[in-house]
Amino acid sequence: MSEVEKAQAASPGGDTVFGKILRGEIPCKFIYEDDKCVAFNDMSPQAPVHFLVIPRKAIATIQDAEEADEQLLGHMMIVAKKVAADQGLENGYRLVLNNGKDGAQSVFHIHIHVMGGRQMGWPPG
Ligand code: AMP
Repeated sequence: MSEVEKAQAASPGGDTVFGKILRGEIPCKFIYEDDKCVAFNDMSPQAPVHFLVIPRKAIATIQDAEEADEQLLGHMMIVAKKVAADQGLENGYRLVLNNGKDGAQSVFHIHIHVMGGRQMGWPPG
């Protein structure tokens, strides 16, 4: 099943694989963690380096984010850049936040994809 097909089949709401990871129900090696978010490698990497930054708070989509989440969302970007540096992405990288069905979101717990280690193309599919 392609990522787009997964996104079309995914149902918003309810528990997600990322919730299970955060609760330790699915094993996952964090490459970064703090009290607000964690980062781990994507199981289906689309670039030599491909990790996800997810908040500990379960926010399904960006539409579900509230004004009170402003600091958390900014913090995720700062974590993304710090972990990208730790991973040696000194020539740049791509940040992606797939949102909702048309945005090809398949896991309804917001996450920033950080991809690098190769030249990215544009426009995305
Ligand atoms: P999205 O399509 O933007 O919702 O991205 C979800 C991402 O989560 C995909 O790139 C998947 O490969 C990744 N993913 C799903 N389950 C896991 C897991 N258990 N560990 C690591 N990455 C995962």
